[in-house]
Amino acid sequence: MFKKYICTMCGYVGYPVKKSKGSFLVEIGLWLCFGLPGLIYTLWRLTSSYDACPECKNPSMIPVDSPMGKRLLETLNEDKL
Ligand SMILES: [Zn+2]
Repeated sequence: MFKKYICTMCGYVGYPVKKSKGSFLVEIGLWLCFGLPGLIYTLWRLTSSYDACPECKNPSMIPVDSPMGKRLLETLNEDKL
């Protein structure tokens, strides 16, 4: 069971999606043409992957049980009431 996350940008509550920088096509191209730079590019993409909000695509998802997440959730609930 995963913890839920909240987006600090748009207030979306749910689970972040994994996003990686760079392009899959570039990665394949480097592998086919050069080999080693392809490996470096693949490693860079793996290390630079981040959790993004599925709604606004910003890397701004934080756990709802963190102090900041709780405060944000309370603020959002107050707005709805
Ligand atoms: Zn968002």
